[in-house]
Amino acid sequence: MDSSVSILKFGGTSVGNGERIRHVAHIIAHKLRDPEEAFPVVVVSAMSGVTDQLLRIAHYAWTSQFEEWKQELRALKQRHMEAAEKAVHNPEAHRLLLHDLETAFTALEQDVATVGAKFIAPKNEADSADGTLYAGSTIAAWGERLSVLLLAAAARDTGLEAAPVRQEVIVTSPPRGEAPESAGAVVGAEPLSEETRVNAQSLISPLVEQRVVPIAAGFIGRTLTGIVTTLGRNGSDYSASVIGAALDCNEVTIYTDVDGILTADPRIVPNVRLLPELSYAEAARLSWFGAKVLHPRTLMPLASRNIPVRVRNTFRPHRRGTVVGPEGGLPSGAAAIAIRRHLALITVESTDMFGIPENAGQVFALAARAGAAPVAICSSSGYHLSFLVEEQASDSVVSLLQHDMGTWRVLCRRGLAACACIGSGFTANPMSPARAITALAHERIHVITQGASEPGIILIVEDEDNERALRCLHRDLIVPVIPLVRSHTPEKRREVI
Ligand code: ADP
Ligand code: ASP
Ligand code: MG
Repeated sequence: MDSSVSILKFGGTSVGNGERIRHVAHIIAHKLRDPEEAFPVVVVSAMSGVTDQLLRIAHYAWTSQFEEWKQELRALKQRHMEAAEKAVHNPEAHRLLLHDLETAFTALEQDVATVGAKFIAPKNEADSADGTLYAGSTIAAWGERLSVLLLAAAARDTGLEAAPVRQEVIVTSPPRGEAPESAGAVVGAEPLSEETRVNAQSLISPLVEQRVVPIAAGFIGRTLTGIVTTLGRNGSDYSASVIGAALDCNEVTIYTDVDGILTADPRIVPNVRLLPELSYAEAARLSWFGAKVLHPRTLMPLASRNIPVRVRNTFRPHRRGTVVGPEGGLPSGAAAIAIRRHLALITVESTDMFGIPENAGQVFALAARAGAAPVAICSSSGYHLSFLVEEQASDSVVSLLQHDMGTWRVLCRRGLAACACIGSGFTANPMSPARAITALAHERIHVITQGASEPGIILIVEDEDNERALRCLHRDLIVPVIPLVRSHTPEKRREVI
């Protein structure tokens, strides 16, 4: 018997209500019946909007807004009970599911009360070393746990042998910087690969051996001492690939609400196209620069083992979607454009024009101490260094640099966005960067600075210009807009690079 598994990850909109949850159960059943497919292991997100709701509840509890917390919790329960109604038809199975949900909500209420009472004591001695319970993560984790119960029950109700995995599969380090006071937010923790492998093999492999489909929670993990953590907002794609790597899976499929990875964000650009194949490097750059369809870390556990990632549409599961793998498709001009918003450009420069090049290391070490990884490095010389960080981290980076960099001058420009034009053939064609800059110039959009790397270039613009920039780059580099009314003089056909 082939023991290889394939991960199927379903995002928040895919399980957004009871009917959708039942539809997902049918997709799993279809995979199971297909002799070409490896045995499925399912990873599921919270229903769309539920993590936000849970973080609001944690915040209300922490700030003692009791009425608001109770009201939000009631609405959350109502939504899950309604979903249970639609997801499971058999009366006995429905009754069992309601019982499971009641138990889960009682435990969630206890966690909320703990946060509300600010009784967030370390569980044992080892925990006191790294702080305490993480209020945000403790509460936010419930969204995925509730989805697991709903989807496992729906899968069984449609005739599948399926079981919820009730424990956290991913073992993580404690998140750096998540304090209980930040109850309305979560900080991503780092998965520990060896510990996760052992845990995943013991929780999931026995089910696979019995041909029972495991339904596990995305997004969440726990530390070695048992404290609940998360992989950060939108982290369930990443959790699917961490679990996939731990099980030596042969493929990870991310089921979402679009046909695959598209040439731009379809919410902003209307005439986007599907990209059937992308290389790991291209997909990683796109997600780093804002293509929300994949969490930026998703490919990290998989690329070194050449495990492909497929992105497919839950609502059109017969479509092939996008395959991300080592090679990608044919070298293209610009495969796609992404925009990352809310950035600040920090420039550190020596006042006497003769700095020491080794200072670069010190600058980035200080940025890291402020919790900021540079989003992009834009320019440097012996006496200056310019890089982008997330706007929200910029104040602390600037004050650390001002404090520790002696006579160096620190400048900060906020309110910026990075437009990334990504495609393996982009830099090979000397015209591509020129066309990108010309596209922005025609729209009177100033390029504040830029950066380049093998799969493409990034152009930094004012954040307020971000949508116009995305549309004109997409139009001039990828999909020309066909005019509705043809002019009488035949226009010279523009070659698409
Ligand atoms: P899920 O809930 O399934 O995790 P997300 O909302 O996190 O889904 O990601 C899917 C969304 O990503 C799409 O609905 C789309 O609006 C957005 N998106 C942004 N850029 C792209 C892109 N280049 N290709 C596809 N989708 C994109
Ligand atoms: N539910 C989590 C969030 O909303 C993780 C995810 O959906 O990817 O951040
Ligand atoms: Mg997502």
